[in-house]
Amino acid sequence: MHELTISSDDRGTGYMQKSGFSSLFFGAMIYALLLFVYAPGKTLLEKVQESGELRVLTRNAATTYYIGPHGPTGPEYELVKAFADYLGVQARFVVDENLQSILDKVAAGEAHLAAAGLTVTEDRQKRVRFAPSYQKITQQVVYRKGQKRPRSVKDLVGKNLEVLANSSHAERLAEFRKDFPELKWTESEEIGSSELLTLVAEQVIDYTVADSNEVALIRRFHPDVQVAFSLSSPQELAWAMPRGQDDSLYQAAVDFFKQMQKNGELKRLLARHYDHVRNYDYAGTPTYMRHIQRRLPNYQELFQQAAEKNDLDWRLLAAVGYQESHWNPLAVSPTGVRGLMMLTRVTAAQLGVKKRTDAAQSIQGGARYLRILFDQFADIPEPDRTWLALAAYNVGYGHVKDAQKITKQRGGDPNAWTDVKQSLPLLSKRKWYSKTRHGYARGNEPVRYVENIRSYYDILRWYIDRDAPLRQETKPVLAFSSSVL
Ligand code: GLU
Repeated sequence: MHELTISSDDRGTGYMQKSGFSSLFFGAMIYALLLFVYAPGKTLLEKVQESGELRVLTRNAATTYYIGPHGPTGPEYELVKAFADYLGVQARFVVDENLQSILDKVAAGEAHLAAAGLTVTEDRQKRVRFAPSYQKITQQVVYRKGQKRPRSVKDLVGKNLEVLANSSHAERLAEFRKDFPELKWTESEEIGSSELLTLVAEQVIDYTVADSNEVALIRRFHPDVQVAFSLSSPQELAWAMPRGQDDSLYQAAVDFFKQMQKNGELKRLLARHYDHVRNYDYAGTPTYMRHIQRRLPNYQELFQQAAEKNDLDWRLLAAVGYQESHWNPLAVSPTGVRGLMMLTRVTAAQLGVKKRTDAAQSIQGGARYLRILFDQFADIPEPDRTWLALAAYNVGYGHVKDAQKITKQRGGDPNAWTDVKQSLPLLSKRKWYSKTRHGYARGNEPVRYVENIRSYYDILRWYIDRDAPLRQETKPVLAFSSSVL
């Protein structure tokens, strides 16, 4: 900033002499002029920081932004939040389902950026500027199990193929038109990409195309949805930002992503949202669905009552019960744990459970036990607190504490599940367990256990809300009113 210093000579003395006054007046004039000439308009970055608000367009999907059990979440949501923190501002999200309108709005400068699972394509690059890529995906053609699997684009000709309007998928299909002039598809304006996958599962349409990250998450709910083949080579996802003279905010994004890559935060963020499905047994979903329909109704009320009493989410409690016993009150394991919530004799006695095979007692005991574990991890922010408490339900609180210590020794964050889950398996290695307080544990098990429950929980939430999909869980947000540039 330019500062005009007035020397004492200019100030006049005693009273304002005419000459003193005029020199002050001229000084002020010169100051104003200098400001006008030399102080350029504020940069976009400065404007954002001054207003304290980053305006962001997003879509509602499991791969982007949605309201989860602990509030807004999703990979894009977290990424944007980290960027907003980096800038020292708040992010304000506006949800828009239509890709075209998202890109139009960004191009017109109605938002600072769109974080909407957008694929970087040549066409789009002409209109918007993409920040550095944060994830690679492929486009996958999806069909319904039991139907003939298409092997290549040729097999899509003459079929009922529907994709998201103005998507990278539509763009990719258009490229194939040259070789397959008969290839036709419908572009859906109204429904989202996850719903298109549902339509394939329900055989309303033959095929759709979706990004591989979304397919991996959504296939857990639709075991009948299968990947036929990849329609593209790996493509990049990135934020779209307005093109313009001022690239200060864009540069800040470049620096931000450099830092996120370097300190491993980006990897951890993606791991939080996708790693649990990596080992998910998709083949188990049909059985789970059947059990939701046939077994769960017998215990749902018990789960709800026990959850309410212990301030827990009943769907989480039910998911634990499913992982433990497939909702079988007479389940027994070779190690002597028993009942629907698989309590050990000792734990059951401590919890006042007299008959472990009594479903009501078992569920109440399990809920109390889970509550105790939740309280023991009270300082840890959600959702990590939930994952650590569940790991402790499986392997014991002491072993989880040991794994947290190991995590810290290895330079990780002992409160982050993505880090602790790397350390848990070390508890079965002598080099590590010999130095811990509670010793050896089969540390792989709690990792699989937690990740399974997470998927069972997601599926149950989806199943219960299936007539009110993700979209309706989102709070309505008003559109941005003016240009931000
Ligand atoms: N990545 C796709 C695109 O940019 C949209 C994502 C989706 O279909 O879920 O067009």
